[in-house]
Amino acid sequence: MIDKFGRQITYLRISVTDKCNLRCRYCMPADGVCKKQHDEMLSEDEIIQAARIASELGINKIRITGGEPLVKKNIVSICKRIARLDGINDIAITTNAVLLPDKAAMLRDAGVRRVNISLDTLDEKKYADITRLGRLEDALRGIDAALDAGFEKIKINTVLIGGFNDDEIERLAALTLDKDIDLRFIELMPMLTDEFDAKAFVKNDIVLDKLPELSFEGMEGVSRMYRLPHAKGRIGLISPVSCAFCAECNRIRLTADGKLKPCLHSKEEISIKGLSYDEMKSRFIKAIFDKPENHKELSAESISDADRNMNQIGG
Ligand code: SAM
Ligand code: SF4
Repeated sequence: MIDKFGRQITYLRISVTDKCNLRCRYCMPADGVCKKQHDEMLSEDEIIQAARIASELGINKIRITGGEPLVKKNIVSICKRIARLDGINDIAITTNAVLLPDKAAMLRDAGVRRVNISLDTLDEKKYADITRLGRLEDALRGIDAALDAGFEKIKINTVLIGGFNDDEIERLAALTLDKDIDLRFIELMPMLTDEFDAKAFVKNDIVLDKLPELSFEGMEGVSRMYRLPHAKGRIGLISPVSCAFCAECNRIRLTADGKLKPCLHSKEEISIKGLSYDEMKSRFIKAIFDKPENHKELSAESISDADRNMNQIGG
């Protein structure tokens, strides 16, 4: 379907839970999520109905996210049912990888084609600090499990944070040298969490200053793609703060509590919880058609209007 500004919307990100086994400082508060009633969240059948409607409206790519999607007990069943829908030719998942050793093979069998894994540092102490609860070795084991499971593509997402991991750019980029893994540096987005000062919000261009040997290979979605000499994988730069990509935005989001979010950084939400097929479909059509043209500029001083933390949206 095409929105009123002429953008073709082909990509839906579904958050299946706002819960997480980590507490990344840029994503959620230290004390976790406010407990919601089970019946406030979308059921598995509602998630599948939403995915079916999306596919009928021209969505062909679905990404499962969270919170941490792998803490959801029925995650494999959800992925399997979405993968079977006509019109969905790409199903991917974004995870912190901690539970991948147990689940990677089942997800691959369920039809998940691609996995994005969050990893912001290769230093054990810094990993424990940024995730508040995590152990680096668990995430690294998860990456190995993803490689063993044979996904079509594995990408690492690294949130670039000034004063935290800008001294690790070369080391993180080196992960692409001998493995066919893409590593994408994502600019820190200013959400409700107030853990970071202005110095933390650095532009992705510092990656190009640190790695002048990178060669540009073109755009892939919203990511500028580069490669180190002789590397198997690529380096991506995703710059939502220094270079918003609203004009090319092809996505909408569905939160775990059943709100369609036509724009990540807007307060606007359209509830589809508890609706019949027809009612749900007409809300989808409205959400897509009325997708805002753009969002306000983001900066250290100007936080997102989303009014939710990232674990409650899905990133
Ligand atoms: N738990 C999964 C994970 O961490 O990959 C999926 C959900 S997480 C909300 C999705 C993505 O959002 C992750 O790659 C995370 O790094 C990113 N993210 C969360 N908060 C962010 C922020 N404030 N700025 C930039 N990226 C953020
Ligand atoms: Fe959890 Fe992912 Fe948010 Fe980290 S970024 S707290 S792993 S949802």
